[in-house]
Formats: sequence, structure tokens, C-alpha cells
Amino acid sequence: MDRSLQQHIRDRAEGVCEYCRVPDEFDPLPYHMDHIIARKHHGPTEPDNLAWACFACNNQKQSDISGIDQEGDPNTPVRLFHPRRDDWQTHYRWNGAILVGLAAIGRVTVDVLSINLPHRVGFREFLIEEGVFPNAQ
Ligand SMILES: [Zn+2]
Repeated sequence: MDRSLQQHIRDRAEGVCEYCRVPDEFDPLPYHMDHIIARKHHGPTEPDNLAWACFACNNQKQSDISGIDQEGDPNTPVRLFHPRRDDWQTHYRWNGAILVGLAAIGRVTVDVLSINLPHRVGFREFLIEEGVFPNAQ
């Protein structure tokens, strides 16, 4: 992997996972360059298709590009949040350490990336208690 490209992607994100917003400096697991549109779907390895992602988000997302909104039509896939094209604050808000999707794209991304698994919420609660993780971004 191109180290300078990876450094650019990390610096652009200021070291923060572009999905769950946990800073890499506090996460013991390595962060990765996520292909927003996976290579298997012909997403290029270019900055416009890359995001900085924590191990958990990246590992859950894999090559997914969509999901089914549990509050919507079970037969209609909804695309995932696109960190380059979508505004994070338009799609999410924090309820303490729980990430809430404000509409279908946010809900599906929280679901597919398992952002609110109990151990992930617990880790963010710890960061909030330590005063290093803002609960409103
Ligand atoms: Zn993440």
C-alpha cells in the first residue's frame, strides 16, 4: 500500500474514523484506508474514493456499499454513507456514546458497520469519561 497516500488520507481525516469518529490515537487497533466503493465494485484507489476507517468499521463494512433500512422498505437497498460526498452532521447525531442515524443512509451505515455493538459503545463511553471524545461533533 502507498504510504504517502495512506498518510494523506489519515491527515485529511485528522486521524478520526470517518464513520464512527473515534480518533486513531486512542484505539489500540490499526486504522485502514477504506475503499468507500470497494474495489470489487470497481472503486478506484484514489483520494475521492478513500476514507480513514477504524479497524471495526472497516472490518464490518468489508465490500458492502448498501444495506436494508430496518425502518424502511425491506426490498429496497439503501446506499451507505459516503464520507467524501455526504456531510457527517447531516446524517448522524450522538446520543451519549450511541450513534444515531438521522435518516435511512445514517441508520443503514450504523447497522451495517455495527457501530453500536455493546463493546464499541462501551469503548466510546470510556473515551467520553476520559474527556477525549466529544459527544457532539
Ligand atoms: Zn470507525
